Amino acid sequence: MADPRVVVIGAGPAGLATALSLARRGRPVTVLDRDAAQPVDNPALAYERWSRPSVPQSPQPHSLLGRTRRALRLHAPDVLASLLEAGAWENDFGDRLVGEAAGPADDDLVAVHCRRPVFECVLRGAVLNEPLATLVSGATVDGIDLTTVDGAPRVTGVRVGGATVDADVVVDASGRRSMVPLWLRRSGVSLPTQEVEECGVVYFSRYFKLREGRDYPSWGGVLGPSGTTDCCRFSMFFGDNGTFAIVLGVPAWERELKSLKLKDVYMEAVPRFRSLAPFVADDVAQPITDVLPFGSLQNVFRPPLLEGAVPVRGLHLVGDAYCHTNPLFAWGLCLGIDHGFELGRIIHEHASDVETQSLAFAELTQVEAEHCYHAVADEDRDRSLTWRGSQPRGAFLGRSFAGFVRQCALPTVMLDAQVARAVLRRSNLLDSPDALARDDQMLQRVMDLQSLIPPPAPGSAPDREELLELVRVQARIGF
Ligand SMILES: Cc1cc2nc3c(=O)[nH]c(=O)nc-3n(C[C@H](O)[C@H](O)[C@H](O)COP(=O)(O)OP(=O)(O)OC[C@H]3O[C@@H](n4cnc5c(N)ncnc54)[C@H](O)[C@@H]3O)c2cc1C
Repeated sequence: MADPRVVVIGAGPAGLATALSLARRGRPVTVLDRDAAQPVDNPALAYERWSRPSVPQSPQPHSLLGRTRRALRLHAPDVLASLLEAGAWENDFGDRLVGEAAGPADDDLVAVHCRRPVFECVLRGAVLNEPLATLVSGATVDGIDLTTVDGAPRVTGVRVGGATVDADVVVDASGRRSMVPLWLRRSGVSLPTQEVEECGVVYFSRYFKLREGRDYPSWGGVLGPSGTTDCCRFSMFFGDNGTFAIVLGVPAWERELKSLKLKDVYMEAVPRFRSLAPFVADDVAQPITDVLPFGSLQNVFRPPLLEGAVPVRGLHLVGDAYCHTNPLFAWGLCLGIDHGFELGRIIHEHASDVETQSLAFAELTQVEAEHCYHAVADEDRDRSLTWRGSQPRGAFLGRSFAGFVRQCALPTVMLDAQVARAVLRRSNLLDSPDALARDDQMLQRVMDLQSLIPPPAPGSAPDREELLELVRVQARIGF
């Protein structure tokens, strides 16, 4: 068959990965993106110079976990190399396993640290270099054209400002606020019911840059300084070129804590977390952004099939448009990038049969995406209940599985290499999120290690009362 006309809505990471995968297989592809083109020759400058109004999370810290890196290593090693050249760096978790040397099975336990626009700029550059890929910026898709074939809807194109762009295959990579489901419902198309649950957390992030000649302070643990208190999830995200971000996540319902968006309140709070304090010391690093709040977060999963059948022929959902979860887990790029490369392969291999494309993509991705959605939604629900003062009960040492992972498994990562490997493979999405729950031996190992977990050092992080008091004192001083 002649090449299908493939249109991708959205030049975010998932749309770019799909386009790269198709173009490098010899298939023409057109990517339409709402944001204006802003050429940035040097990706290291993308954070300051490239604004992405349609992607509000763009300036927020992003980690490229093991799954994302593996997808790049396998499908676009040149992108990974260019990223490292632009100042990103690889953090090899295998080297940090306690009491055991890393083996070949740990090869993908590596995160890549850089700021998101740096990554996106490099990936975009790779797509722009492909002769078969056409990227149109400033093109807002505002509708989908459909016809009916054998009683079922089938895409024929997309609408851009009153004009139609014909397409045999449309890939919705337009992100977490995709309008495509709404347009389809308005056209009378029956879609599978999407699953939605609030994350219950608001994030306050701020980027810093190391001062000349300084290195990142050392930190205990494998993943970098992070932890969960009775009202806060705190963590550090490394970046490229000596940058890093501190992230404080607090319950969405704690109104007073929203004052953390004020620089002085934030800078008063961060050093109270003992493991974060060395990073923000005046002679170590300086802030390079304001405090960046991000709330109204939801976990969403849109099943690709309706009772086993393809709801709209020729339409594929990928990236956040398909499934997005609490960024605390940093699984968005893992799924978006990996699925994008795989979707490109599947469209190429079944170029003349759009129904087979959908079935093959669903078979490859649906079970895992659903597991990811539930793992994160369960953790959000469990943590929210804990923050509200109740301890959710379950079969795992009396806890729910989510609580067991957070409160029992994570603290044993520094005690045992086998547990560390299993937990890290899960958190890097190299194993399905449900694999640990099915591994009886590993669960037993975690339980056996419980008595060895050192008690939390007193004063290592402010509790809810202390954090609220800090906010109130700052308010009295005049904010
Ligand atoms: C606060 C926060 C922190 C995060 N941190 C991490 C992290 O550490 N690690 C991680 O892996 N993930 C993280 N994520 C998730 C990650 O940002 C997303 O998973 C990722 O952006 C999804 O990529 P995408 O290509 O599907 O969508 P997007 O990145 O949202 O891209 C969508 C693209 O579609 C375009 N578009 C939208 N509508 C239209 C239209 N109608 N017509 C044309 N173009 C359109 C937009 O301009 C944009 O370019 C975080 C998310 C948030 C909210």
